[in-house]
Amino acid sequence: MAERLKLDIVSPDKLVLSDEVDEVVAPGSEGEFGVLPGHLALLATLDIGELTLRKSSGFEHVFVSSGYAEVLNDKVTILVESAENSRDIDVNRAQAAKSRAEDRLSRTHDGSIDVARAEVALKRALHRLEVARKVH
Ligand code: ATP
Repeated sequence: MAERLKLDIVSPDKLVLSDEVDEVVAPGSEGEFGVLPGHLALLATLDIGELTLRKSSGFEHVFVSSGYAEVLNDKVTILVESAENSRDIDVNRAQAAKSRAEDRLSRTHDGSIDVARAEVALKRALHRLEVARKVH
């Protein structure tokens, strides 16, 4: 059993982060779960939320949108639509996305609003703002 986990966070256009960590806590669709070295093989779907990485130097917080987590032989692969380390989150952009989504959700009566889409956009923006507050 390795003492640490190898972690790759991959989005459709890039390798967002590749690192060795002591523990990963992920926002599973059926609840948050933690992975330590020696974890059994696992394939799980992820919700929009926060990935917490524990390292000897401290904690890192990463925003992830929905996707998958695979654990195999002490290697964790996170495959998501988008991911940003807390320090890389553009707070103004997330704030603007939040306002846009809130505005759309306040006009649902006009029939042309895709409510589900606006709700998911709002959820992404709120989680980005929360993760951005945790810059280490
Ligand atoms: P926006 O409406 O601002 O584009 P979004 O939630 O629709 O927000 P996504 O589709 O999740 O954006 O992401 C598109 C790309 O932009 C991804 O590469 C993502 O990492 C990046 N991105 C989106 N919002 C931010 C942000 N606030 N800070 C940094 N990168 C961001």
